[in-house]
Amino acid sequence: MSLKLATNALHAGHDVKKTQGTRAVPIYQSTSYVFDDSEQAANLFALTEAGYIYTRLNNPTNDVLEQRLAALEGGVAAVATASGTAAIATTLMTLLKAGDHIVASNSLYGGTYNMLSNTLPRFGITTTFVDPDDVDNFAKAVQPNTRVFFAESLGNPKLDVIDLEGISVHAKAAKVPFIVDNTIATPALLNPIKYGANIVIHSLTKYITGNGTTLGGIIIDAGTFDYSNGNFPEFTEPSPSYHGLKYHDALGPIAFIARVRVEGLRDLGSAPSPLNSFQVIQGLETLEVRMKKHSENALELAEWLASRDEVSWVNYPGLSSSKYTDLAQKYLPNGKSGIVTFGLKKGFEAAKKVAENTKIFALLANIGDTKSLIIHPSSTTHSQLNEKEQTSTGVSPELVRISVGIENIDDLKEDLNQALKAI
Ligand SMILES: *Cc1c(COP(=O)(O)O)cnc(C)c1O
Repeated sequence: MSLKLATNALHAGHDVKKTQGTRAVPIYQSTSYVFDDSEQAANLFALTEAGYIYTRLNNPTNDVLEQRLAALEGGVAAVATASGTAAIATTLMTLLKAGDHIVASNSLYGGTYNMLSNTLPRFGITTTFVDPDDVDNFAKAVQPNTRVFFAESLGNPKLDVIDLEGISVHAKAAKVPFIVDNTIATPALLNPIKYGANIVIHSLTKYITGNGTTLGGIIIDAGTFDYSNGNFPEFTEPSPSYHGLKYHDALGPIAFIARVRVEGLRDLGSAPSPLNSFQVIQGLETLEVRMKKHSENALELAEWLASRDEVSWVNYPGLSSSKYTDLAQKYLPNGKSGIVTFGLKKGFEAAKKVAENTKIFALLANIGDTKSLIIHPSSTTHSQLNEKEQTSTGVSPELVRISVGIENIDDLKEDLNQALKAI
């Protein structure tokens, strides 16, 4: 039976008969699992039999979360990680080696931008950042050593809606997988796999858990990329790292995600705690209703902010003034998520002050909480970037970012009203 998102968010991956009839997904807080005998243990390590070995590699609670998110995104399988950043690092370090090259959108989450521009080059992996508004920029940046394309479906904090389909055509031509960070949109609003993404990543820390209690990440494999195309010998040649396994031959559509688990998690140790996965599952249950409310509140506040004298501009893909209106209608027909940015006419100091003066909106460096949040990125989350980098990632001195929660909309307006009046 093919079930819809709201149903899968509550049920996918949990076989109640295998968990003593428990209606809630249990927390399996165990590091390791008793083998039946040596032969079974050998089969588990050889991947000829499914089962649990050690919680750095797999765990029954994490397993439910993985199956559930794979179902929500339309992927073949998934691997959960300790954070969104761990998901990105584990994916790239599983796929790439020294000498390889990434083509990435220039409007990325600050932490990801830093990883690609400063940390990965130390290991010989370089990135060309391109303006994703023209999808041909991805094709133009391709080099003989390019091995992945990377973009956020809805850029943080630029809120640019990416033409996934256009970019995926170029990824296919370049014979590289297209990795999409879908954190801001969530599977409740957008499924990048439908538009050609080969790997989907989420920070579960944001909307998917939704209440600001838990760090988490996920890597979802669409199972659609052909790793035998000549660009990825690590998938076709015997792996010295896993007793000569030829991932492509042995595992077909799950070659990538299997390698993430048995080599990526094994070597990088990026596994989540089962307790955290349990917490993520609690949040995930209500994802669809929350994203609807976040989107409604954000649209109403964006329109209200646009009418204010203190405000010079408002950026929200749901506004008719947005340059992404058409792409937003195509890719996000059911809501444009909860992040809004706006500029203060009086600039940097005024923006800082508004962020300090709200009472319901909490001043902090996170997004995607049920509770409303506010920040001045130029002096905080993006302060490690130089001015040029700030501009390319969409951060200007007068910009304030809000993550609109699911509180009563009139209370949120009144809170911003008094903060704007104070400048
Ligand atoms: C927060 C975020 C990340 C990083 O996730 P963590 O769970 O904080 O490591 C990656 N991408 C996007 C778009 C994010 O918003």
